[in-house]
Amino acid sequence: MDFELTDDQKIIQQAAREFCKREIIPIAEKCDEEETMPAELLEKAMDLGFPFMTVPEKYGGLEMGCMGSALVQEELAYGDGGIASSIGVNRLAAHCILVSGNEDQQKEYFGRMINDHHLSAYCLTEPGAGSDVLALRCKAQKKGDEYVLNGEKTFITNGTIAKFYAVFAVTGSEYDHKRLSCFLVEKDSKGVTVKKHLRKMGQRASDTVEIHFEDVHVPARNLLGREGDGFSIAMKVFDCTRPPSAAGAIGVSRRALDEAKKYALERTTFGKPLVKHQVIAHKLAEMAMKIEASRLLVHKSAVLYDQGKPNTFEASCGKSFAADSCMQITTEAVQILGGYGYMREYPVERLMRSAKVYQIFEGSSEIQKLIIAREIFKDA
Ligand SMILES: Cc1cc2nc3c(=O)[nH]c(=O)nc-3n(C[C@H](O)[C@H](O)[C@H](O)COP(=O)(O)OP(=O)(O)OC[C@H]3O[C@@H](n4cnc5c(N)ncnc54)[C@H](O)[C@@H]3O)c2cc1C
Repeated sequence: MDFELTDDQKIIQQAAREFCKREIIPIAEKCDEEETMPAELLEKAMDLGFPFMTVPEKYGGLEMGCMGSALVQEELAYGDGGIASSIGVNRLAAHCILVSGNEDQQKEYFGRMINDHHLSAYCLTEPGAGSDVLALRCKAQKKGDEYVLNGEKTFITNGTIAKFYAVFAVTGSEYDHKRLSCFLVEKDSKGVTVKKHLRKMGQRASDTVEIHFEDVHVPARNLLGREGDGFSIAMKVFDCTRPPSAAGAIGVSRRALDEAKKYALERTTFGKPLVKHQVIAHKLAEMAMKIEASRLLVHKSAVLYDQGKPNTFEASCGKSFAADSCMQITTEAVQILGGYGYMREYPVERLMRSAKVYQIFEGSSEIQKLIIAREIFKDA
């Protein structure tokens, strides 16, 4: 498999790296502290096309696929996981539209993203159902040429910022793969209320909210695919969005390694720099190894996706390995900085708080392992 980046991929990676250095790193700590995502920053990211990486060129997007998204996410998350998640999460609803939207839907919604900078949010999770997607309760009832939506969604990234949502709701009566449908819903529709800003452990710059839908009338033309396609849309979308999510974890890990390396060279104990103590050098080596292995897995899963080949197994391996490694690497970085690592004045405590959510969102590490186990027993 060829891992050499194309010229376009190198250019977008470099652009994201410079954006991170210039725009994210200087404000990351403040944004985390104040739980804010500056609108100007999002605007600049949209000008560069970062939230629209997979949008086809014919609608004005960059059409750089799963690999392009992964490269950008790694660079942005190096600066801050929360800011990177806020910039990147548009890919989830965009991908729903890409895999199941008809020509009119693609033209309208991609057009709004690119021309009007209308961001989207992905509304799957509910207070009573996250991993168990088929247990959703938000209901969509067909009435004439409309659906009426009632229910609650929670933990929705960019729920306040987004102009429209991809909402998964129950249209079937059985607990099976035909139970759900996916709708494009305007945020300013009557009956949509962003109820609560949720306060988080980490990635605090990103907007995370609870949304209520009360008798929300959605035109039937806003149904993505056919009634009952919701579950398969959600799963197809994850094949393309998990590699960039995992790449975000790699960005956070890479930053943790850089901060730990810097400190290990500067700090002296027992008459020599920390790095000269073999235990510390080995910790740094382990961190570097895990980053390399994570990136190989993630890039492999992204390349497979872009080649139109099955990548569910590889995407889950990459997501789970990169997320779990990120938690270990950031924890070790805090350890290497000792007491200072625990203090807010150094970035590693923010990195450690940022890391945790990669093991939870877009399918937890436990769920990735269920998928991996299912895939390895597929032929049994
Ligand atoms: C910061 C943040 C942002 C998010 N953004 C979005 C978003 O934009 N849109 C959206 O729809 N959702 C979003 N989520 C929701 C996220 O995807 C869910 O939290 C996640 O899927 C887990 O669901 P849950 O929280 O309901 O946990 P549960 O499904 O209740 O699981 C609880 C624990 O049990 C484990 N578990 C569950 N089932 C099994 C099993 N069968 N075997 C073994 N272990 C199991 C899980 O791994 C987890 O550790 C976000 C979450 C967070 C924290």
